[in-house]
Amino acid sequence: MRHESYMKYERKIFFIYFSLILLLIFSISPLSALSSTKQKPLTVAETSNFTATSRYADVANFIKELQRQSSLLRVETLCVSPEGRTVPLLVIGEPVPSSPLALSHDGRAVVYIQANIHAGEVEGKEAALMLARDIVLKEKPPFLDKLVILIAPIFNTDGNEKISPANRRNQVGPEKGVGVRYNGQNLDLNRDGIKLESPEVQGLVRNVLMRWDPALLVDCHTTNGSYHEEPVTYVWGFNPNGDTSLIKFMREKMMPSINKNLREKYKVLSIPYGNFMDFNNPEKGWRPSGPQPRYLTNYISLRNRLAILNENYAYADYKTRVMGCYYFLLSILEYCYDHKDGIAQLIRSADRKTIQRGMRPSEDDTFAVEYDLKPLKDKVTILGWEMEVIPRESGRPLVKKKDKKKTYSVSYFSDFVPKRSVPFPYAYLIPKVNPEITEKLLQHGLSVEKLKEAVSLEVESFRIKEIKGASRLYQGHYLNSVKGEYHLEKKEFPEGTLFVATAQPLANVAAYLLEPESDDGLLVWNFFDRYVVSQWRQELQTYPVYRLLKPVNLVKENLE
Ligand SMILES: [Zn+2]
Repeated sequence: MRHESYMKYERKIFFIYFSLILLLIFSISPLSALSSTKQKPLTVAETSNFTATSRYADVANFIKELQRQSSLLRVETLCVSPEGRTVPLLVIGEPVPSSPLALSHDGRAVVYIQANIHAGEVEGKEAALMLARDIVLKEKPPFLDKLVILIAPIFNTDGNEKISPANRRNQVGPEKGVGVRYNGQNLDLNRDGIKLESPEVQGLVRNVLMRWDPALLVDCHTTNGSYHEEPVTYVWGFNPNGDTSLIKFMREKMMPSINKNLREKYKVLSIPYGNFMDFNNPEKGWRPSGPQPRYLTNYISLRNRLAILNENYAYADYKTRVMGCYYFLLSILEYCYDHKDGIAQLIRSADRKTIQRGMRPSEDDTFAVEYDLKPLKDKVTILGWEMEVIPRESGRPLVKKKDKKKTYSVSYFSDFVPKRSVPFPYAYLIPKVNPEITEKLLQHGLSVEKLKEAVSLEVESFRIKEIKGASRLYQGHYLNSVKGEYHLEKKEFPEGTLFVATAQPLANVAAYLLEPESDDGLLVWNFFDRYVVSQWRQELQTYPVYRLLKPVNLVKENLE
């Protein structure tokens, strides 16, 4: 009896111990950890029922959660922002390439999606995070057998952290507010494509473009222009000094196909990005912003790569905008997936043509310094409204939409064509070496050499006859406009003179930076001011970059 009861007692104790151990096991086991985190992370847009947007910490936490659940992404640093925030770059692949080197014997194409460059324009940030999640956490992740997808969901972190309901009040939500346009240096990052004065755009060039060489960049924005029903608008890089076969491909094949897919498969309407040229007379036409490479998509096209500017429509509600952007990005990936080899061939051929032109430039090879703007042959149809136009003293009228819908079928003025051009040179020579100029050229990834011995060469010089700084500051600069004359002259170049050959894939970038009459070059952005107007003499100087028109063999070495 006593023995029996002891046995019972022992069994009871054993049972209690066993239960405790089981409890302990379950509470710390990875299985239970997995079951609690198996839930897909949600963006702030989703959890707030589309009334708010993610802060920097929300984005960081979302990315961490993706990493806990998937091995298909790695996080790199795109840059450190002026206010000290690390800007994340997601590298998504199956397998995730450990470095670009891992892709050199691999047929995958790299596509880069960038969002929140203007941190008041937040749809891309939410949509890109959702897209990253929906790719890496899918049982059979789509796209990754052919694509490596890079995503910078929060490009302008500093602007993002200034979220306030007072920003961009003209747009429909999110009611809890959005960030500001500028970065921590008060710079508009989508005007920094040439001068590269922000760590963000410097980081984009160094850590994305030069490191991963994406075939395509998608830059997500929100427009606040003309009234229409389509929630998504887009345009391609279109500077005519870029390879025109890329412009034609995007304009005539890629974008119409993405537009069609977006409409038919996802029921989202999209139109090419633009504004009415004259609100009093909307029939006059529709046009996007300028062709200058200060705008990143134009800059990318000068680098012989594809670029899409996505402008989501501010007067659609926030959820419609986020979802529109999400399906637009998805359609872009679908197109890249289906046409990967064609795209790769196109950009390889653009690079090859660019290099060959520079080896022996012919008379037909030119660089445009002035443009004409022509309409495309097909009109665009805009589902708009009748408008009330109220003149204002500032010149820009106040435009209000009336209640009555109106469909406009108008010419789309987005074909910038050369109006005046100069011969494309074999090389540029810069005898007065300024570390700032050298640094700029290298920041863009140009191949730069220096002369190892003095040499006398026949070159074309540009004598400045007039230089005017703009009356108003723009991005911290008084932009110059110049007039001058070209002269052929024999000139001595000392040892150490910088030599920029145009037989390189980035020759169009080199020309844009260095041509004296370039409408967005380093002369425009004040980098040569101290050389063209000396402080102790009144007369204007010769522009210190000389054009070497024909090939010459010279003793030189690469600048490290
Ligand atoms: Zn924008």
